[in-house]
Amino acid sequence: MEIKTKFELGDKVVGISHYTKEVLIPCLTCDRTGRIIIKDKNFECPDCYGKGVHNEYKPEAWYIVTNNEGILFIYDNVVKIDIDIIRKETKIRYLLGRKYTNSYSGTLWNENDLFRIIEEEVECKKRNEELKD
Ligand SMILES: [Zn+2]
Repeated sequence: MEIKTKFELGDKVVGISHYTKEVLIPCLTCDRTGRIIIKDKNFECPDCYGKGVHNEYKPEAWYIVTNNEGILFIYDNVVKIDIDIIRKETKIRYLLGRKYTNSYSGTLWNENDLFRIIEEEVECKKRNEELKD
């Protein structure tokens, strides 16, 4: 088996992350009423528990993670590559640390949210544009 990773140990990277917003999606099972009728009996909707809506959490805005938000500014080198292979899905995550030392941050970064320096700005802009649609 051969696994291709986006980065290698020692690569200098930058992460992007996003703020999250709560979105209310109308419940289709009860048509937003929170109640359903079965054989003339009125029940609480089992899908939305009577709320009439479902809560979903979606990205609101992407941003480049800097030393204000976290410690990525210091920990910007790939020090460990974590690969999970579950059936058809391969999950590649990275642990970032400080070059030439043993210190690292505890966050595992998804491959999709890490970029080489400079690339992160373009990607952040692109994802924010997509959110406007
Ligand atoms: Zn419902």
